[in-house]
Amino acid sequence: MRTTTELGPGQLAAGHRETPPAVGPSPEHVATAENFAVPGFDAVVRLLTRSLGVPLVALVLNSGAAYWFADGNELPADGPRSLHPLFLQAARSLASHVVLDALIDDRLRDAALPLTAGPGPIRFFASEPVCTLTGQHIGALCVMDPQPRAELSESEQSALRDAASLIGTGVVLRSYLGRTDPITQLPHRYAFFDDLRKHLQEGVPHAWVIAVDVAPVQRFNAFIRAMGHAYADELMRAVAARTLEWVPPETRLYQVGATRFAAVLPDHHLLDDTTRLDDLVARLRRPFDCLGIPLTIQPGVGLLKINASELRGGDPLRLVMNASFAAQQSPRGWAVYNRMQDEQQRQEFLLVTELAAALNDRTELDLHYQPRVDLDTGRCVALEALARWHHPTLGNIPPAHFVALAERAGLMHSLTQWVMEHSIAQLATWHRDGHDIKLSLNVSSSDLDADLVGRLRDVAERHKIGLDSLELEFTESTLMEHSAVTRRHLTAIRQLGAGIAIDDFGTGYSNLAALRQMPATSLKIDQSFVRGMGTSPHDEAIVRSVAQLARNMGFRVVVEGVETSSIYESVLGMACDEAQGFHIAHPMHARDVPAWLAAHQGMPSRRAVRWSE
Ligand code: C2E
Ligand code: CA
Ligand code: CA
Repeated sequence: MRTTTELGPGQLAAGHRETPPAVGPSPEHVATAENFAVPGFDAVVRLLTRSLGVPLVALVLNSGAAYWFADGNELPADGPRSLHPLFLQAARSLASHVVLDALIDDRLRDAALPLTAGPGPIRFFASEPVCTLTGQHIGALCVMDPQPRAELSESEQSALRDAASLIGTGVVLRSYLGRTDPITQLPHRYAFFDDLRKHLQEGVPHAWVIAVDVAPVQRFNAFIRAMGHAYADELMRAVAARTLEWVPPETRLYQVGATRFAAVLPDHHLLDDTTRLDDLVARLRRPFDCLGIPLTIQPGVGLLKINASELRGGDPLRLVMNASFAAQQSPRGWAVYNRMQDEQQRQEFLLVTELAAALNDRTELDLHYQPRVDLDTGRCVALEALARWHHPTLGNIPPAHFVALAERAGLMHSLTQWVMEHSIAQLATWHRDGHDIKLSLNVSSSDLDADLVGRLRDVAERHKIGLDSLELEFTESTLMEHSAVTRRHLTAIRQLGAGIAIDDFGTGYSNLAALRQMPATSLKIDQSFVRGMGTSPHDEAIVRSVAQLARNMGFRVVVEGVETSSIYESVLGMACDEAQGFHIAHPMHARDVPAWLAAHQGMPSRRAVRWSE
């Protein structure tokens, strides 16, 4: 039976700081041929054992890991327990090494030999450096025999060289790279999973997984574009080294992503004293001196408490990444995994994907229209387009929810474009059918750029709609956000002839002077005050005085949220120009609008009130 085993680097490099002090939760770290197949390695070493007549071959990586091959049944199932320093010396040098007889050669004399069982103490040892195709030195291929040799013939030397170069040029490299990061030499994600599993199987009730994220991905990519890969590699090595100074001596550090490290902490009371975590963050926030250039990173330290049953079928790295991602944005710099937050983010992510799809396929999205009535005439003068999303399984998703989602996910431009296209096309149809009405559209803060003017003009021209038939509604807070730039864009919109409404007025913190400078045409008093008018004299007073003030400032005043006839009657007596609300009409499907307009001969109006007096 052949056995291929991997020896944990800690056994080779105990106390050595050049390679990570990689004593993991499970120092044995032995992989058998079944769970760690290196088919290329097997084939090459089989050829080697035949041509050199040696029973034992090892690939020793300069990180300290070793892969063993024993032809026959000699290798104990749990692998060799100790390894002579000569192996590591060979793995880290570019020269070949030959010890013909350990009994007469100083280098193997102290005989802390690699095998505690099997063919007995090693007398013959030879090694050849292994380099990859790109010239990276990854370790040494070693052959051993309990029999001493008198010499190593030319052909034996060249067989060993050929085998080393075969291994270096590819076959083993793949699996080597799969387990050890070529830049930091830290063990990889798979090793992390193996070790975490073993750790939890050892009867520990739970473990803490800690992840260190170096920087947000976009920032790291920008950094590579500016500084190059060599600098980025150096930075990762520096971050790894600083993290290693912090982790307890018995803890192994893994590189689990391009810019992410993880470790399994033996401490079950990690949160009892959080100064240790603060200390890690402080260390990572100190500038790094990389190739002479100082750089500050934006680290995030994530923590996850996990037990064996949670590990089954779970993805601990995804969970802990969630925490480290949140930590990057937090002043404290570290965060514990929060299941509720994670669930929310997952749902949000799924929903964003679906919203993007809905924006493309256009059958789930729809528009409803709500009439705005002129209080002087009682006639409908405009319709406000309100987006609707009917999700096939989740049902109707409220616009307040998906609009905010689109805003966060950068989908607002597409959503607004969709709304403009559809509502303006619809308005063109109504105009052709003889309905003299305007259209108001809701626009959000991320829409408000130089592009918006062009987009609006484009769509309107295509549907032959005059811009004076359109009004854009911006919330009060949007308008107050960046007043100088905002004012410029709004002025451009006004110059095209479109109206501008300040939506939800009263919910923000407008400064009246700034408000007066806004080139807005109308002001919509927020429905929260209007709805309260029936029960609160206070709200009634607010609406009355805000309406008066707004009118004095030259705005057309619109009250929204008019739910009852008594509120409607009240606003008739105020300085209000238009009303909108469930009492007049609920938002409705486009196909119901013509019938509503026809049936609706006009709401009570000031004129009607005057006439009836
Ligand atoms: P909004 O612009 O203030 O729209 C008015 C909201 O109040 C609408 O809710 C409307 O259905 C509701 N409403 C109208 N009259 C009454 C009433 O008398 N009583 C009550 N209780 N509610 C009334 P909806 O359609 O759920 O929209 C919510 C918000 O979502 C809108 O508030 C707007 O900010 C946003 N939104 C909707 N469609 C779009 C869109 O196409 N683009 C953008 N950017 N935002 C949109
Ligand atoms: Ca609105
Ligand atoms: Ca509103």
